[in-house]
Amino acid sequence: KFAILNGEIIERSQAKVDVEDRGYQFGDGVYEVIRVYNGKMFTAKEHLYRFVRSADSIGITLPYKDEQLLELLETLIVKNNLQTGIIYMQITRGVAPRNHAFPTGKVIPALVAYTKEINRPVEGLKTGVTTILTEDIRWLRCDIKSLNLLGNLLAKQKASEKGCFEAIQLRGNDVTEGSSSNIFIVKNGVVITHESNHFILKGITKDVILQVCSDNGLPVEERTFCLAELEQADEVFLSSTTAEVMPIVEIEGNKVNGGAVGSITRKLQELFEQEIETQCGS
Ligand code: PMP
Repeated sequence: KFAILNGEIIERSQAKVDVEDRGYQFGDGVYEVIRVYNGKMFTAKEHLYRFVRSADSIGITLPYKDEQLLELLETLIVKNNLQTGIIYMQITRGVAPRNHAFPTGKVIPALVAYTKEINRPVEGLKTGVTTILTEDIRWLRCDIKSLNLLGNLLAKQKASEKGCFEAIQLRGNDVTEGSSSNIFIVKNGVVITHESNHFILKGITKDVILQVCSDNGLPVEERTFCLAELEQADEVFLSSTTAEVMPIVEIEGNKVNGGAVGSITRKLQELFEQEIETQCGS
């Protein structure tokens, strides 16, 4: 298999980073995960845009043009013969003697990308997944897709130990997002999800869902909602690049909608699949 290291495609086993790479030492970098269906990237432009924005917000300028990067990623997919899976891509501030402050000399940001085969989560999509609740202990710039994921990791680990798929995070009494997903509730036919501000990552999947809602006349409210609204919701689901529109059928052992996947969630799954077909073929 092959990987991208600093603009070149090389054998993955040859892709090595220095011990003083600032991503390795400080988590000083940002990343993206792009879905690949049928050998084609889904919402590639949106992911690249977010990548550039995340990098920009911590003062890293990508040393590549969007088109250059896109072409490299396409070549990587072909070379790795990837049909269904993901591209993982990250950029760090680069290699410099360890010091919290940014290096003053010219340091070239280090870009790495590789692919991984991952099937669509068909079983979960059919029957739904279980979740727990946990306190959102993360920093206040969750809108940056930072390599610093300890808060997210601790939340996911808690879910994993309870045999659950995801941890729904609460900041005070408000639902923010999952450890690696956005959270949606449906109440009286209205689809509700947290507004995109510094408390959550603006999910690309979330944006696709909001777009198909708007295209199909499904009412949406992008706003903060509280724990009581989550508990009293008619339907709950999560969204992410790998999990797509994933129904949540249990929260802390309490069934949502009697444990069945709701009709609006099903409808959104259908519309999301159509979007995949449109962009990547079936
Ligand atoms: N929030 C967090 C914290 C995430 O890690 C992810 C997954 N990248 C998401 C939301 C969903 O974002 P996307 O739909 O772009 O995968």
